[in-house]
Amino acid sequence: MLSASSMLPAARALALEIQALALPQACLGCEQELGAVDEPEGLCALCRHRMRRIGPPVCRRCGQPLDRWSVQWQTAKAEAGAGHCEFCAAWPRELAWAVSAVWLEEGPARNLVFALKYGGWRIAARSMATVVAAELAPRLRALDALVPVPLGRTRLRERGHNQAAVLADAVGRAEGIRVLHGSLVRVRETRTQTRLDPAGRWDNTRGAFAASGETLGGMHVALVDDVVTTGATLGAAAQALAGLGTASIGAVTFARALVPS
Ligand SMILES: [Zn+2]
Ligand SMILES: [Zn+2]
Repeated sequence: MLSASSMLPAARALALEIQALALPQACLGCEQELGAVDEPEGLCALCRHRMRRIGPPVCRRCGQPLDRWSVQWQTAKAEAGAGHCEFCAAWPRELAWAVSAVWLEEGPARNLVFALKYGGWRIAARSMATVVAAELAPRLRALDALVPVPLGRTRLRERGHNQAAVLADAVGRAEGIRVLHGSLVRVRETRTQTRLDPAGRWDNTRGAFAASGETLGGMHVALVDDVVTTGATLGAAAQALAGLGTASIGAVTFARALVPS
């Protein structure tokens, strides 16, 4: 990886651009040498299998795992018309659902996310998209378009690319879904959320996005991001996007992080 932190932003962006065109010789998940079969995706077969999938029972709305008690609780609520769990109770109504493919754990899942976000390895998006397509196909099939969660201008300049946009393109290509890059803009930079508690994340993302461009009348769309934690970013993005007249807005992420307490 580059020691890019010491470079000027423009030089760093260029260096990342050049690196993005190359294929990694070592697996982006475990750094073992890659065989020719695995090279096009930058991930070895072992890493592909090692990522922990998010399996049922999960909340029908937010995709968060439920224990047995909450399954019964949710069923009762769903019959009463609520259809959410405690995790997504605070979500805005504009965000109808969210699904994720794997857990953001130490190992290949986290390494892939970091390789794409900070290392400039766009090829990481290809293996992430393969996992997303395999795990979330039924949701993806019902969609008219994907909308990546946008980065602010400063972050975009620093990083050279928006990881959500690269991932959305890879998923769109894999599943034949349109990707709308201009429908949502970030109008306010948000602080890095890593150290914020759930309440802080909701405050941090409020009003951070605005809709732009043509209307999406009657379209079923999904926001795309690399990771979801509390859903605060996705909720704020969905509220802005709803202004374009969508029929429904969901969210698809590669990974799901445990919510910090
Ligand atoms: Zn590996
Ligand atoms: Zn839920």
